[in-house]
Amino acid sequence: MNQLCRLLYLSTGSDKLSKEELEALLSKSRENNLKKNITGALFAGGDLFIQVLEGEDIELIRLYSVIFDDPRHNNCMLVGVSPIAHRIFKDWSMGYLESSVSYMKASRDQLINLSEMHGNADSLIRILNQFVKLLKGN
Ligand code: FAD
Repeated sequence: MNQLCRLLYLSTGSDKLSKEELEALLSKSRENNLKKNITGALFAGGDLFIQVLEGEDIELIRLYSVIFDDPRHNNCMLVGVSPIAHRIFKDWSMGYLESSVSYMKASRDQLINLSEMHGNADSLIRILNQFVKLLKGN
């Protein structure tokens, strides 16, 4: 049986997409993710993207391999894939939030530190819940 998982990655190039290109990307992603029962959110700021995806392991790995090859961004770095009991981003097939460069850089550094320390689940959940708060306030 497939396992419900959460996948988190970082990439760069968000500043190179026009507003229209970004809207097309979000709309296509929402349509695709709904079909695959994938939830999550994309955060952008400066030239950085942070994306969280939740769904069945096989679907997530398939999607990540497509996203990885997408020339609309670069330097994809997988922070982690972990089994989860429930979804944090259950209300979004693809939430989107633009944040300040400083917030994005701080979040990226925290996430990289966590992955290098082989993850502290509580700290990660705190960061993700902060993202959810921001999305809800949007
Ligand atoms: P297609 O029919 O292949 O493409 C749909 C449309 O997307 C095309 O008409 C075109 O306008 C545009 N497009 C596709 N590929 C390119 C390209 N290489 N360059 C320019 N425009 C292109 N996809 C998801 O399904 N879910 C996600 O959560 C998701 N997150 C993403 C996050 C980021 C930061 C980026 C850069 C991409 C993301 N994508 C996501 C897009 C993904 O990489 C694929 O483009 C998409 O999944 C292809 O879907 P499709 O085969 O249904 O659409």
